[in-house]
Amino acid sequence: KNLLAPSTLEFTRHPNTAALAEMERAEILADPGFGKHFTDHMVDICWSARGGWHRPRVQPYGPIQLDPAAAVLHYAQEIFEGLKAYRHQDGSIWSFRPEANAARMQRSARRLALPELPTEYFLQSLRELIQADASWVPSAPDTSLYLRPFMFAKEAFLGVRAAEKVNYYVIASPAGAYFTGGLAPVSIWLSTDYARAGKGGTGAAKTGGNYASSLVAQAEAYDHGCDQVLFLDSEEGRYLEELGGMNIVLVKKDGTLVTPASDSILEGITRDSILQLAEDRGHRVERRKVTIDEWREGAASGDIVEAFACGTAAVLAPIGSLKGADFEITHLDGDESLARSLRQELTDIQYGRVEDTHGWMMRL
Ligand code: PMP
Repeated sequence: KNLLAPSTLEFTRHPNTAALAEMERAEILADPGFGKHFTDHMVDICWSARGGWHRPRVQPYGPIQLDPAAAVLHYAQEIFEGLKAYRHQDGSIWSFRPEANAARMQRSARRLALPELPTEYFLQSLRELIQADASWVPSAPDTSLYLRPFMFAKEAFLGVRAAEKVNYYVIASPAGAYFTGGLAPVSIWLSTDYARAGKGGTGAAKTGGNYASSLVAQAEAYDHGCDQVLFLDSEEGRYLEELGGMNIVLVKKDGTLVTPASDSILEGITRDSILQLAEDRGHRVERRKVTIDEWREGAASGDIVEAFACGTAAVLAPIGSLKGADFEITHLDGDESLARSLRQELTDIQYGRVEDTHGWMMRL
């Protein structure tokens, strides 16, 4: 008789895969970062010149098979969108002005010779994905589920023309705070060697090429110790356009908000909403050409008291400084700033903490 053998064995139970997935998800949601982790499913809808939109699917998240001759890999016929799903106190899940994203995607599609996805299909695609992946919408303060609809030319054909086979997808990624420094003011590098978009180009469309062309300028910003890059117009190199992934707004001493009007910037939904909130409060809003000299001189004279960047991912970030090759201007950022109070008002609407008087929220 083996005296060392216990009379019964103590089994450890290996978690089943569902429980493992649940644990993994909880871990990711506790610290999601931005754009690093993806939910379990994705939407996939086909389009062909002959058959229109067909075969809508919600399928497991995973690699997309592409023919090496797929047109997107050669001629960059691609567009995308970005918006967020927010969890409210009662557990319900909402998106912010999704019809505006649908409309912008249709404008982008026209510019890139891609098919327009009807607004109702766009909204339905978000609802279907959220239904499958609702447990991926985090609930901690300032977190959300970032939704990334995109569409590209899948046809295997090397001739240069609009593709006759296209796919539309939606993927989703839980999001924490965009800037790792929280709401610390951001520093901006003024790019003068590179332009983001030209007259008649694709600047107003949300298409990958605009972002590819911004990368070396963004790298230059990092080299100069700055967080983000600011582009000027490509013709005269005098007028403010936008940052690599956000719009820009200046605030004058008298409370007027000034933001660039241009055919070559992306019309941000965040900017539009923030300016609306400011107008509701009685602020004057000017959408017009703004020169870099106006900003520099205004900052020096005290006429321009604040500047901020805005977009879906970061919501609103106060600009603490603007650095160029031969100058630097700084703005003070206090708790009392207009930027911070507008950010608060907008996020209160998005997270359902105040009444949505503009009808901006849509339940998913
Ligand atoms: N400009 C650029 C170049 C962007 O990529 C974004 C982000 N979509 C924005 C502005 C802000 O747009 P929105 O407020 O709709 O996110």
